[in-house]
Amino acid sequence: MNEQPGTSGLIFNEPLLWDKSRKGRCAMSLPKPDVERTLLDEHLTGDAPDLPQLSELDVVRHYTRLSQWNFGVDSGMYPLGSCTMKYNPKTNEVQAARQGFAAAHPFAGDMFSQGALKLMANLEHYLAKITGFDAVTLQPAAGAHGEFTGMLMIHAFHAKNGRQRSKIIIPDTAHGTNPASASLCGYESVNIKSGKNGILEPEAVAAIMDEDTAGIMVTNPNTLGLFESNIREIADIVHSKGGLVYGDGANMNAIMGIVKPGEVGIDILHLNLHKTFSTPHGGGGPGSGPVAVVKALEPFLPIPRIIKKLDTYEWVTDCPDTIGRIHTFYGHFGVMVRAYSYILSMGAKGLADASKLAVLNANYIKESLKGTLNLPYDRPCMHECVFNDLFQKETHITTMDMAKRLLDFGFHPPTVYFPMVVDGAFMVEPTETESKEDIDQFIDAVKAIAKEAKENPEKLKTAPLRPKVTRLDEVTAARKPCLRG
Ligand SMILES: *Cc1c(COP(=O)(O)O)cnc(C)c1O
Repeated sequence: MNEQPGTSGLIFNEPLLWDKSRKGRCAMSLPKPDVERTLLDEHLTGDAPDLPQLSELDVVRHYTRLSQWNFGVDSGMYPLGSCTMKYNPKTNEVQAARQGFAAAHPFAGDMFSQGALKLMANLEHYLAKITGFDAVTLQPAAGAHGEFTGMLMIHAFHAKNGRQRSKIIIPDTAHGTNPASASLCGYESVNIKSGKNGILEPEAVAAIMDEDTAGIMVTNPNTLGLFESNIREIADIVHSKGGLVYGDGANMNAIMGIVKPGEVGIDILHLNLHKTFSTPHGGGGPGSGPVAVVKALEPFLPIPRIIKKLDTYEWVTDCPDTIGRIHTFYGHFGVMVRAYSYILSMGAKGLADASKLAVLNANYIKESLKGTLNLPYDRPCMHECVFNDLFQKETHITTMDMAKRLLDFGFHPPTVYFPMVVDGAFMVEPTETESKEDIDQFIDAVKAIAKEAKENPEKLKTAPLRPKVTRLDEVTAARKPCLRG
């Protein structure tokens, strides 16, 4: 285990700032005032705030130490399925931090924002090309927000056509946010089971598609990491009854440059710029979930939209069928800069190569671990593969025990217990940015853990043993959160 990245080393304990505080200690010295002193107390009511008093070094060490307790893509492999936790090249951060972009203000007016508008218009164009659609909005702030925007547009489309519909078909392999987005728009979700091989069967869709159904939401590749290869036939069935096909494209990392969703029957699709197009995520920071549509849905896109008139870019709000505004200004601009920089620096071939490597890496893990962990759907996968803990049942070792133990080996655990179609799911998405050596280390760690599950299951039940915080009582943590130290 010493060969593994591990988590031992100089990790310091760190108290709260209030506990480190010493009366009178201060991080700066100010020059003597040249105006008469007035006591602040005279102007304030109530007690002075209880702020910690610390030196500059106290503060620097405090935050540096806390940051070392954290784990991120920059510190190790983060194979969290369905999340695409890939490495985001630093050049894209540098571009987003450029003064002209970082300090751009949305109130500056079109005339002073031509560079920013051009970047957004070009990004819309590239995303339309990559996905095979006619028009794009960059406004939604996340994938789920993109879904919501898409559902509002589907709703507006049916309203415009004179008859609202009440239901949306959602497969059991869809992402969990899909039914939530549909129901926020007033649609009832109708669940549909995928077939034996983990993908949707056209006959099953035909059996429930009717003229009260607004459409279908298909996650492709789905949450089993499988490509919905019947998508075109399914789209034909849905279209023949006047419905629309929504594509959840958050997993575009598997197919960019290879498949254009707009060309296989999908009408509307969201992307996750913060997964596929180089914005670090997972910490709750800003995201972006652009929505791409076919021509027939373009009139419903949110406003404002950007248009180019001769050589200038302008915002347009005069769109009678628009669903309106769904974000202040135009969404999260910094994320767009990173995506633009990523697309330009990768180029068309680079994007396709990234997808191919993402798929290769996932298949390599699937093949390497399939004797070690049970693989419920044993077929070529896309960017992720889903195992479960069936082989470990005998010794009562669960997916959670193995995921916890991976922390001892220096890996972020994969996604666990999702998708729900697989009991005890252990869902691995290595991404294209991991090297073969790092992936091999991960495979060795999982094999070592499976061996422990046979030989020493009691120990595994107490894992993790090496991180700063060991096995947590998750039930108590959720029921009685202790928010202070
Ligand atoms: C991540 C993800 C989403 C949700 O995206 P957020 O940005 O977290 O809202 C939706 N669908 C799929 C398939 C995803 O992987």
